[in-house]
Amino acid sequence: MAQECIFCRVVAGELPSDRVYQDEAVVAFRDIHPVAPVHVLVVPRRHVSNLGELEEGDAELMAGLLRVAARLGRSLAPAGYRVVINVGEEGGQTVGHLHLHVLGGRTLGVLCSPG
Ligand code: 5GP
Ligand code: ZN
Repeated sequence: MAQECIFCRVVAGELPSDRVYQDEAVVAFRDIHPVAPVHVLVVPRRHVSNLGELEEGDAELMAGLLRVAARLGRSLAPAGYRVVINVGEEGGQTVGHLHLHVLGGRTLGVLCSPG
């Protein structure tokens, strides 16, 4: 566990969260500042800084993260949902622990504003 990492602390239960799913490798909880009626974060229990840090041996973990995102999307936002992974500063990543955003519950706008 990375001591300074807030999502490691959420996974460990040191910080409170509204958990909607957990298994031996993956935890999902509601975003503290939701931007849509459904806004869930799906994270690996293991500290992985970002998508680029995943290695070949992590294929099963990545599949698990996507499977959980799809399952939660289907159940929480049956009319459709979006899965987003921000990477790095310009990618909009603000928390350095890999997470998938699952967004839904309303018609979602353009994927990315013109900037
Ligand atoms: P990013 O910008 O890194 O892709 O997404 C980080 C997300 O984590 C943001 O949507 C932010 O609202 C959420 N977040 C930051 N700190 C916490 C926290 O302590 N608890 C929860 N549940 N969400 C958090
Ligand atoms: Zn972490």
